[in-house]
Amino acid sequence: MIAGADRRTLSNHHGARSAATSSSEDELPQTQVLHSNPSARPLRPAARPLIIVVSGPGGVGKGTIVDALIDRDPRLWLSRSWTTRDRRPTESADAYVFTTRDDFERRIADGGFLEWTEFLGNYYGTPIPEPIVGADIVLEIEVDGARQVKTLRPDALLIFVLPPSRFEQERRLRGRGDDEAMVQARLRKAEDEEPVGRGLADEMVVNDDLLTTVDEMLSIIEAARSR
Ligand code: ADP
Ligand code: 5GP
Repeated sequence: MIAGADRRTLSNHHGARSAATSSSEDELPQTQVLHSNPSARPLRPAARPLIIVVSGPGGVGKGTIVDALIDRDPRLWLSRSWTTRDRRPTESADAYVFTTRDDFERRIADGGFLEWTEFLGNYYGTPIPEPIVGADIVLEIEVDGARQVKTLRPDALLIFVLPPSRFEQERRLRGRGDDEAMVQARLRKAEDEEPVGRGLADEMVVNDDLLTTVDEMLSIIEAARSR
């Protein structure tokens, strides 16, 4: 595990690298994106919610972090995803909208998702967000969904969360009760996800100590609100 002193927040500004296939932009909570200078970041009018994408490999602690962010900042609104995977015994009934493949595919056909993907054999998707007025939107999603959101909304803030080490990620997956096959599948998947996430991210945070991670992420969000 990386020692506490090595914990770090890393930044890059590569932005999105490939096109999203969704056409949901018109359905987002909108005001217009202003481009006063083509080389500058798009300006985000005050009325338009910031979209905060928290992404990272399975077991890194995204769900735990996002719960803490929501508790600490009442201006954050958490999107509830749909999934076709089974509910874990340890999971609350409202962790997702747990649904069938047929219902999920019907919603895709109806244009009801901002983004969706297939991850380890199951569908996951973000319904078109309907945040409370004045709130910023938090999405906790994997990297393919993060890429789609960055393409639709380049001004979204993408924070990619990294584990202190592969060993610690594995320990967390086991600790959460994932079975051995699932632990191995998620670790293999992480090898593909990490380089993509690093390339897309606006900010990278190593989730070693949870409280420090949450503090760092709240600072990153605050800075993005005032940019
Ligand atoms: P993810 O949503 O990224 O798959 P989870 O939020 O489910 O990950 O976290 C996986 C496990 O790791 C959970 O048991 C959680 O309590 C634990 N965990 C999360 N963050 C930390 C941390 N900073 N230190 C130790 N354990 C953590
Ligand atoms: P899990 O099965 O561990 O809950 O989730 C598997 C992966 O899917 C995680 O990386 C999680 O962040 C991601 N995920 C959860 N909801 C969504 C979603 O709506 N869209 C996308 N693209 N990924 C999601």
